[in-house]
Amino acid sequence: MKTDRTLYTNCKIFTSDSERPWANAMAVEDGRISWIGDAAGLAVTGLDATGPAAADLATTNPAATNPDAADPHPTQTIDLGGRTVIPGLIDSHQHCLLMANFIKGIAALPPRVHDMDELAEAIREAEENLEEGRWIEGWGYDEGKLKEKRKPNRWDLDRGSTATPVVIVRACQHIVSVNSKALEIAGIDRNTPDPEGGVIGRGPDGEPDGILYENARNLVYKYMPKLTEEASADNLKVYGDVLASKGITAISDLGELTGLKYGHIFEKAMDMGFRTKVGAYFLWDFIKDDPEFDPEVLGIGEGPARGMGEKAPEAPPQILYPGIKLIGDGSVSGHTAWLDRPYPGTDDCGLPTCTAKDIEDAKLFAKNHKCQLSVHCMGTAAIDRTIDLLYSAKPWLEAPVPTFRTEHITMPSETAMDRAAASGIPFVTQPVFMFSEIESYLENLGHEWTKTCYPIRTWLDKGVRVALSTDAPATAWAEPYDPFVNMQAAVTRRAWDGTDLGQDQRITLEEALRLYTAESGPMMGFRDIGVLKEGYAADFVVLEEDIFGVPEDEISGVKVLSTYINGEKVF
Ligand SMILES: [Zn+2]
Repeated sequence: MKTDRTLYTNCKIFTSDSERPWANAMAVEDGRISWIGDAAGLAVTGLDATGPAAADLATTNPAATNPDAADPHPTQTIDLGGRTVIPGLIDSHQHCLLMANFIKGIAALPPRVHDMDELAEAIREAEENLEEGRWIEGWGYDEGKLKEKRKPNRWDLDRGSTATPVVIVRACQHIVSVNSKALEIAGIDRNTPDPEGGVIGRGPDGEPDGILYENARNLVYKYMPKLTEEASADNLKVYGDVLASKGITAISDLGELTGLKYGHIFEKAMDMGFRTKVGAYFLWDFIKDDPEFDPEVLGIGEGPARGMGEKAPEAPPQILYPGIKLIGDGSVSGHTAWLDRPYPGTDDCGLPTCTAKDIEDAKLFAKNHKCQLSVHCMGTAAIDRTIDLLYSAKPWLEAPVPTFRTEHITMPSETAMDRAAASGIPFVTQPVFMFSEIESYLENLGHEWTKTCYPIRTWLDKGVRVALSTDAPATAWAEPYDPFVNMQAAVTRRAWDGTDLGQDQRITLEEALRLYTAESGPMMGFRDIGVLKEGYAADFVVLEEDIFGVPEDEISGVKVLSTYINGEKVF
């Protein structure tokens, strides 16, 4: 076990601790922060200065005052050269395993791919690095974002490769574009009938054009090489490195949409060196009637620590299974979020995707098993129903971990906001949706309505608990997990193309950082992350430039110099 003490000095630390937001030196021992504060009066050499700061440090380790004595805890000092340090960023709502399995594929959307030429080029590049036997895969395209304003067809993809099968999934996951090689392998030609519940796209001459809708996707999917659990775990490891490069030290997985019980894949990845901390949820739909699901796995830090904790019981836990998740409606960009009035120009209000009884049943289950209940509710009607059903319940989890959490909150009613504030039910939300999917927000809601979405300023002023997250990969951006893009959206209230998203709902950068750190840790059951404070895990990020000094519209470009998890440099 690591017992060295490391002192980080000469830095500007934003702690996310409301009692002491700023510091300029920090000591780390055994993966946790043992001291943080003002280095004034602390002579760095040997830590043998007098003064309040040194005294603080001495309390945690008496040997600190006399480094020449037989010190069992030698101190190493790291001068950070005046750089800015923030707590490790926490994305409290992602679909991490899904995202990990895309990570080696082509991100077929801006800022990486803007048109068919760039898509073909990305395919050629992917082919050069392709592992034996794999297909070229891509994800995330949206014809609204492509210069040609149409879906890629087989001939577009053939310009990238005719030798290797290519499959590019649309952002919605329901439509795929494939090249001629993939059609050939699947045996799809002009004589192939449309399968039930699916359509094979065709040109005017009846020849398949490579665009497969709904169940027609399966005609190709069944020939694709299966992803083994080892390969998934390896993808997680690769993804963990990407997350670390973005300063993300913890993520929450809000459910594997295939119903896979995926804890063992995360744990396998951890054995392979995946370091990101994880709060993994189970989808209620898949476990409610599953006799093989063991609810004992659920819990918030009670019982044995899981993941890394088992191997090093003293170490901060790496994975928790905080609870269950229920999906209450659709999405604004998909025109399916359940509203209290019709989408403009239609008589369509979106729709609920579960019943009130489902929410009641899940709530009872969560109470019986002392775990969290998370409900996806994006539109006003879905939010009202969820908050109505939950706000008067007596919490069964100890603060600051919330008993309930609500996901994707976009346009809550006044009553829902007030009840959420009074009962402490948090809103886990994604301003990056509006930033990256502005085209569909404008089309589905119009500009005036769009500007009232995600009113985070109002929530904070009312005292609602809020956490920021990305929902990657369900975010139309090439690096959907990028926390800096998300924070910029919340601070500037401007979309990627400059569209005004409602200036009255701006929040400050300090607030955005707090919502990405201190507020996000407890959302996913962790009690020791998100704040740089004595006793907390030493998860922190050193930035290349001072994020507090750059213009607001350049926050998304801030680069991470290094990332630490439990005091160890992981990037
Ligand atoms: Zn989600």
